Amino acid sequence: MRFRAILDTMPVYKPGKRVTAPDGRSFKLSSNESPFPPPPSVLEAIRRAATEINRYPDASCHRLTEAIAERYGVPYDHVALGPGSVTVAQQLLEAVGEPGVEVVYAWRSFEAYPLLADMAGVTSVRVPLRDEAHDLEAMAEAITDRTRLVFVCNPNNPTGTASRTAELAAFLDRVPEHVIVALDEAYREYVRDEDVPDGLTLYRERPNVVVLRTFSKAYGLAGLRVGYLIGQREAAEAVRKVMIPFAVSHVAQAAAVAALEAEQELLARVEEIVKERTRVRDALLGQGWQVPPTEANFVWLRLGDRTTEFAEHCARYGVAVRPFPGEGARVSIGDAEENDAFLTAAAEFPR
Ligand SMILES: *Cc1c(COP(=O)(O)O)cnc(C)c1O
Repeated sequence: MRFRAILDTMPVYKPGKRVTAPDGRSFKLSSNESPFPPPPSVLEAIRRAATEINRYPDASCHRLTEAIAERYGVPYDHVALGPGSVTVAQQLLEAVGEPGVEVVYAWRSFEAYPLLADMAGVTSVRVPLRDEAHDLEAMAEAITDRTRLVFVCNPNNPTGTASRTAELAAFLDRVPEHVIVALDEAYREYVRDEDVPDGLTLYRERPNVVVLRTFSKAYGLAGLRVGYLIGQREAAEAVRKVMIPFAVSHVAQAAAVAALEAEQELLARVEEIVKERTRVRDALLGQGWQVPPTEANFVWLRLGDRTTEFAEHCARYGVAVRPFPGEGARVSIGDAEENDAFLTAAAEFPR
């Protein structure tokens, strides 16, 4: 059998896994999920949709597209859906990718980018973070005439840092008009710093900016897989074109529509997470840790060569964190009990 050579060097995506303490306690803080189960109205929509799954889903995702367009006040044909925004990012890469094409992104950033770039057969150009944040000046310099796409993960996964209005504007001024800038805003709902611009504002001002959003985090539907892009018609159309037919399931579409209707309830939960985020970061700082300011639902600890040891230590307390060996650990903000378990583990880590 013969496979593409790139498969030999492709990183393998490691999903966050559960760990259990000797006393049976288990807290999953490794995948930035919502700790809350879906609200009753969303569960009811899922139940109803489940009775119809002998039929194929609506391939055009009409109701959901309409609901998103209405919610954000954008034209219907500026919205493109996919089974999770990871897949929407993949669709975007498929739409621009051919041999020789370059995609620029910060590193470390979202671990899916290198994987998706490899799969699309494009060349990754990684620009190191500066002080745990995007180095947008260096990213602008990394753009060549082969660049077709730049990912800006805002806030950045896994460091939680966010790029601000002035630096983003200066960066966008330097990006050629034919290069797409994809603002990955998976954590937008958790942003509280008013100087971090809403990507939709930038999309309205700049035709080459597209925004990626997801129902997986704040909207609590990680298990159902729904994400979307908002961008100019040309970009949305290209992304729609390369979507595998029927990729967003009927149940997922129905649940996402219901989640938008239950938005107030869901955003109130986001507020709780944001409060917990402040509590967790303050407690960590009090314990003597260095924690970059975070606008997302996780914190980042740069542990260097002690990262694996830290993850194993937390696992003994039943707390699963996300280690990036040699670099650091990302820890999701959960409910108060989960966060307390993590804070106890962090306090007792021998330093
Ligand atoms: C979680 C996450 C996503 C969303 O992934 P889905 O495929 O929608 O579940 C996208 N981008 C980043 C940076 C993320 O962390």
